[in-house]
Amino acid sequence: MTNANPEDFIPIQFGSAKEFQDRPRYLPRLVCENDQLARIVGKYSFTEQEKLECGLNGCERVHWHGWVIQTKDGDETHCGRNCGEREFGVLFKEVEAVFKLAEDRRNKRERLEQVAGERGSYLAEAKVLYEHLSSLGNRVQSVLSEIRKDSALERAFQTCVRSGGRIMVENEDSKRMRSAMGAETGKADLKAIGVIRGIDGTLSFQKVLQELKYQVISPLEKLSLDDLNKLSDKELTAKTQAFSELHQTLSRAKSAIQVLQQFSASSNAQAFLLLPQSMSKKSRTARVQRILERICELYAGSTKST
Ligand SMILES: [Zn+2]
Repeated sequence: MTNANPEDFIPIQFGSAKEFQDRPRYLPRLVCENDQLARIVGKYSFTEQEKLECGLNGCERVHWHGWVIQTKDGDETHCGRNCGEREFGVLFKEVEAVFKLAEDRRNKRERLEQVAGERGSYLAEAKVLYEHLSSLGNRVQSVLSEIRKDSALERAFQTCVRSGGRIMVENEDSKRMRSAMGAETGKADLKAIGVIRGIDGTLSFQKVLQELKYQVISPLEKLSLDDLNKLSDKELTAKTQAFSELHQTLSRAKSAIQVLQQFSASSNAQAFLLLPQSMSKKSRTARVQRILERICELYAGSTKST
């Protein structure tokens, strides 16, 4: 087993041979016995023009991808990407696993540093989106709470939600024709007489608001560059996961706003007035009419909400 710990070092991605050749303990040629290998310091991935002769155990082949390894004494050399495993077998696999853990840790930290560096602008953007979406959401809630006052109207609205906003009524002509032909009547005899736009948004905006609040705004408020170095691996992973969907969450919020803007457009009020036509005649009561009038007032920007 190796005694190297992934938390002890930051793995290096070498950009040029000079970067590892300039390290104080670097040797262009090194003999390392199996039990003397300590760890991988970093890796390199050069172009063919930059390839160089292997420094490990007299290999001397030229490689352009490989590792910089370190012995237990602290000496270092570079070797091709397959040379470590050839020379050290299973031990190299262990050393490589430790390196990959450290690399993973470094990547997560860099990602968090990037987020922390832009924390202010992400936070400002998320808050603006949150405010905008909640105010549109409040308007949606007022419309929905009006609709809920009548169960037949609510059923008609839910049917409309399921058909993507289309208000479907029976097509009497088609029904008569099919019936005359002895065919069954049913769904095929429906036609759309109008569309309530942006109706999908009424189902999803609350989830998007929650995501903005708990997956973006609140973790960003708690994120500070100073704390990053103190994080355990577990905390680092948790924080990285929290921000892994940062951009997607912000763009989901933007789409939700667009959809709710469609729902709130004044032209939608006319579509609501068509809803009773999709209801049975006896359900088209004076109460339904009053509710629809109040919805139209809401759409017209009236302050009367009840
Ligand atoms: Zn080699």
